[in-house]
Formats: sequence, C-alpha cells, structure tokens
Amino acid sequence: DVTATKGNEFEDYFLKRELLMGIYEKGFERPSPIQEESIPIALTGRDILARAKNGTGKTAAFCIPVLEKIDQDNNVIQVFSLLPVLYVAVIIVPTRELALQTSQVCKELGKHLKIQVMVTTGGTSLKDDIMRLYQPVHLLVGTPGRILDLTKKGVCVLKDCSVLAMDEADKLLSQEFQPSVEHLISFLPQNRQILMFSATFPVTVKYFKDRFLTNPYIINLMDELTLKGITQFYAFVEERQKIHCLNTLFSKLQINQSIIFCNSVNRVELLAKKITELGYSCFYIHAKMLQDHRNRVFHDFRNGACRNLVCTDLFTRGIDIQAVNVVINFDFPKNAETYLHRVGRSGRFGHLGLAVNLITYEDRFNLYRIEQELGTEIKQIPPHIDQAIY
Ligand code: ADP
Ligand code: MG
Repeated sequence: DVTATKGNEFEDYFLKRELLMGIYEKGFERPSPIQEESIPIALTGRDILARAKNGTGKTAAFCIPVLEKIDQDNNVIQVFSLLPVLYVAVIIVPTRELALQTSQVCKELGKHLKIQVMVTTGGTSLKDDIMRLYQPVHLLVGTPGRILDLTKKGVCVLKDCSVLAMDEADKLLSQEFQPSVEHLISFLPQNRQILMFSATFPVTVKYFKDRFLTNPYIINLMDELTLKGITQFYAFVEERQKIHCLNTLFSKLQINQSIIFCNSVNRVELLAKKITELGYSCFYIHAKMLQDHRNRVFHDFRNGACRNLVCTDLFTRGIDIQAVNVVINFDFPKNAETYLHRVGRSGRFGHLGLAVNLITYEDRFNLYRIEQELGTEIKQIPPHIDQAIY
C-alpha cells in the first residue's frame, strides 16, 4: 500500500510555512514512502538516485526539496536589467506534456511562495521564451533540448543553478537525450545538487552516476511487487479482430477513463477514427501533432472531456491522471520497460487499475518474456471481470 509509511508528517521537515500550506492545499496529508525517503536527504543537499514504482508520488519527492531550496528573497533577479536571468533550479523531463504537468505541480505546491516557475519545451516559439526570460524566473521546468538551446544562446545562465532534478531519469539518459543532458550539466556549477528519479533504471545509469553524481544517496523502493494494484489480462486475437475485441471490452468494462496504446502514429489515427465510428468518445495524441493541439487534447482529457485516449508511447511516461482505471495495449509493446510504464498510467497512488493486452500470434513470446522479466502475472481474460478489482 503506497500510503503505508513510517508515520512522518510534512511538518517534520521544517519546510517554509508557505510551502507547507501549498502541500496541504493540494490535498497531501502525509508524505508517501518515496517522499519520506527523499525529502529529508534532499534537503541536506545530497545527490539522490531514487527508484520507486509508478504512481507513488515521485514528483513531489523532488519538487518539495527543490521549492524549499529556492530562496525567494535573494533570487528575485534582474527585473530592471537586460542581463540574462540566472536560474536557481531546473527540472528536466523527457516529454512536453510531462513538463506541463510537472510545472503545474510546482505552481500548486509553491502557490504561496513568491517564485516564478517557467515551463519551456520544444514545439513552442523560441522567441517567446527568450522574451519571457527577461522576467525574473526561479524555477525552469522543461525538456533538455530547449533548455540547452537557451543556455547555449546565453539567454539562460546556469552557473548559479544549485539544483537539477531529472524525472524519468533513465529516459533522459537514453541515446535520444543523453548528449543534451550531459552538455546541460556542463553549464552547472561544481557544487550543484542532482536529484534523479524513475521507476526503471537500467545498468547504463551506473556510468552516469559515477561520472556526474557525488556520493549519491540511493533509494530503491521496488522490492514490493511493481505492478501491485493493477490486474493484468491478455486476450489472444488476430490483427483484424482487434477492433471487434475492443468494442467488446468497451461494452463490458466499467471504464472511468482509458488510455489505449498503439505502436505507431498512423495506427493511432486510424484507431481513433474507428472508435469514433463505433460511437464511443475518443481523443488521440501523438508527437506528429502541433504542440498547441497536443496541449489542448492533454488538458481536455485530464479534465474529463472525453472517456478514451488513443496514443503512442508519447504518453507512456509520467502522465498522471487519476481517473484512468483502464489501460489497453491495442498493440503490445516491444519491451518490459515500456510495458511497465504504459500499464502504470492506471492504478495511481493506491487506486486500483486494469490492463488489457491484445496479443497476436507474433506477440506471444514477447508476452511470456515480459511477464518473466517483470516477475508479474498476466492472465487470460475471463468472460466476466469483477468491477471491484479496478
Ligand atoms: P510517480 O511520479 O511516482 O508516478 P506522481 O508524482 O505522478 O507519481 O503522483 C501520483 C499521484 O499521487 C498524483 O496525482 C499526486 O498528486 C498524488 N500524490 C503524491 N503524493 C501524495 C501525498 N503525499 N498524498 C496524497 N496524494 C499524493
Ligand atoms: Mg512521475
């Protein structure tokens, strides 16, 4: 149970009163286990490498110490000058939607602090970002590429940035991001603090840890069953039966909100069209859409404007929508890590969840392998699913 803790209270951390108010107003009563582990250590300034399962509150586990660390009075910088703004804290994440979500959490938690949070990602106007940087900003949340661009241009100066948090850190160390991330770190001062969080950490992290972290405090809360609270089923189907199968699932399941994963942009669009034709409400999102459109879909889906969302792996990591109780792998993922993150979109913070995998003949070994690798059980779907389990 994610709420089973050592019994600490947020008061125990001697946080600024304004920050404590934000935490309680957000509805957090007590720190979750990952928060209990990380907050007191992070407040001492030590580097952290933390692994904890999906939906257990990792965001606040790094946002709270980051917000505490920002000295609101000393860092109101350069309102009247045209010098570049100096950042106190930076949070990097792998996708734009996650950047939006994370900056939102920071704004809520930091509601009573007098600090400016700015979100900056690719896909938006660089010029606009540069203009916004002439305002005092204390906390920058964004994707590595854009922050690096701004830094290289000299618009954003990181030499006094005292803390860098990396969410979905293993993804940030994948080939796609690692060069930008390392380049970005080279702009930070020597005595910076780095906080790394994820639910998955492959061995490649070791190289990064040895090279960039100083005596990191390691947290690993993965001993418990990784996908606890999420019931997983598979259904054997032929490719051309998948739609029919989905239709049956829609009619039988009690879906609060669902996320349906496909393996390509084309398949996302096709499937969304078919679902709409079947008479079910459905949005879709993928990386080839314009950012404005993406933001709107993300925002509206989060607010419950639509029951089902079809997407690519763009939505696999970090997205936190508590109303999602069903995840469907319309296309089965290729590896265990992707599977884990996709399925982890349901069952957030102690809620129950249901995952249904449509498995074709070609997928069958993959299914078996992923089950083994994650040490989890994916059962054949029964004719009737008890509503109480999700
Ligand atoms: P993770 O990053 O570990 O997957 P998130 O940080 O997205 O998880 O948090 C999952 C959900 O739990 C969010 O909706 C968040 O608001 C909620 N949450 C986090 N910490 C607490 C807490 N201490 N008390 C109550 N709810 C919390
Ligand atoms: Mg997260």
